Amino acid sequence: MWNMGDDDLVRYAVGELGGRDPLHGGIVDAEDVLASTVIRVKKAYPAYFGAYAEFDKVRRLLDGFPNLYCVGRNGQHRYNNMDHSMLTAIEAVRLVREAKADGVDRSAVWNVNTEAEYHEGA
Ligand SMILES: Cc1cc2nc3c(=O)[nH]c(=O)nc-3n(C[C@H](O)[C@H](O)[C@H](O)COP(=O)(O)OP(=O)(O)OC[C@H]3O[C@@H](n4cnc5c(N)ncnc54)[C@H](O)[C@@H]3O)c2cc1C
Repeated sequence: MWNMGDDDLVRYAVGELGGRDPLHGGIVDAEDVLASTVIRVKKAYPAYFGAYAEFDKVRRLLDGFPNLYCVGRNGQHRYNNMDHSMLTAIEAVRLVREAKADGVDRSAVWNVNTEAEYHEGA
C-alpha cells in the first residue's frame, strides 16, 4: 500500500468511504469528492521489536523527570487508540492536580491499555 501511486490511493479511499459496508462505507458518494491529498506518514504505527523488550528501562528513566508525563500514542510508544490516548491525558492531569511533591507514581498513566484485552473490529 505504501508503494501505491497517489491516484490509486485516492481511488481506494474514496471507494471505502462510499462502500456499502456499514462499518466503513456510506459516508461520501464518489462524485461528491472535489479534491484530495495524500500524505505518507512514516512510523504511524508503534513497532514492538528491537530494544522494545527493554522498554521498562526507558520508562524508569522518563519517570525520573518530575515535570514529564508520557501520554498518547507516541508519548508511550504503544498501540493506543484515540480513547486510550485521551485516557492517558486524563490520568496525567489528575496526577498533576493531585501532586504535592516530586516522585509521583505514574503507573495510572502507563497502565492505560494494558489490563483489558483489546480487539479491533474486523
Ligand atoms: C492509520 C491509523 C488509523 C487509526 N485508526 C484509528 C481508529 O479508527 N480509531 C481510533 O480510536 N484510533 C485510531 N488510530 C489511532 C489514533 O489515531 C491515535 O491513538 C491517536 O491519534 C493518538 O493521539 P495522540 O494525541 O497521542 O497523538 P496524535 O493524534 O498523533 O497527536 C500528536 C500531535 O502532536 C504533534 N506534534 C508532534 N511533534 C510535535 C512537536 N515537536 N511540536 C509540536 N507538535 C508536535 C503532531 O503533529 C500531532 O498533531 C489510528 C492511527 C493510525 C495511524
